[in-house]
Amino acid sequence: MDKRIEQSKDYKFIPMTSLRDRVGEEVGEDIFYYTDQIANVIFIGKPKSKNWVLIDAGLPYGGKKIVQVAEKRFGKGNRPQAILLTHGHFDHVGGLIECIAEWNVPVYAHSLEFPYLKGEQSYPEPDGSVEGGLLAKISPIYPNEPIQLGDIVKELPENGEVPFMKEWRWLHTPGHSPGHVSFFRERDGLLIAGDAFITVRQDSFYNVLLQIPEVNGPPRYLTTDWEKAQKSVEKLARLSVKIVITGHGPMVKGEDLQVGLKKLIKDFKTEAIPDYGRFIDTDNHYH
Ligand SMILES: [Zn+2]
Ligand SMILES: [Zn+2]
Repeated sequence: MDKRIEQSKDYKFIPMTSLRDRVGEEVGEDIFYYTDQIANVIFIGKPKSKNWVLIDAGLPYGGKKIVQVAEKRFGKGNRPQAILLTHGHFDHVGGLIECIAEWNVPVYAHSLEFPYLKGEQSYPEPDGSVEGGLLAKISPIYPNEPIQLGDIVKELPENGEVPFMKEWRWLHTPGHSPGHVSFFRERDGLLIAGDAFITVRQDSFYNVLLQIPEVNGPPRYLTTDWEKAQKSVEKLARLSVKIVITGHGPMVKGEDLQVGLKKLIKDFKTEAIPDYGRFIDTDNHYH
């Protein structure tokens, strides 16, 4: 048994924020998402319910805030049944260890993310040379070394079921990272897409700051396999998605979502994939 739990060696506060920092929004009666600086953390479960899960855990030092938001929604001492990860990038696991320390609950992720969650392998260095505005420019400071979760991290069931979330299915949506997953609920067409695609234009500082909703490709500075990333977006667009909450940007629904997704797929090569950068040469794929 591997019981070690440690932050990544390059764990640090990232000085990026937006006007939605610490702002939460309800989506239907059992979904609530909250923005930690620039990344979304999602709570699935009705207020005060004992049956709830957390999806993703924000940026470094975001954990205590996440616990406070959870206490407000579900009541003090009401722990989630599990924490699910779309993937293991620093802005999705930043507050994770603080949350685990508070709640001591299992963490579920795709096994292809395990090397980055069990201290075995670093993600590639973010590409600061990629075209993509300020977030890309400062990306070399982003942590890319692995967090160490030991045995607390468990594999998502192979049959697509999601632990503790009966109506939901997970889908493998690689490209942004090897073991990236999305979560979908057919009943109301609700999609949690992580960074498979996002809903803010990250190459505009203004759009990030104001969090103006707009369907966009995955974050450029960290996406390493663009061919897979494109296939993953196409896979998600084939679902009957009515509402999406992504890793970055506000919730998008209805016509804006349909039109945005169609455009993203049509223009993926010219709009989503950067013209230059380290990860656009196909020889540079990693897995
Ligand atoms: Zn990411
Ligand atoms: Zn992200």
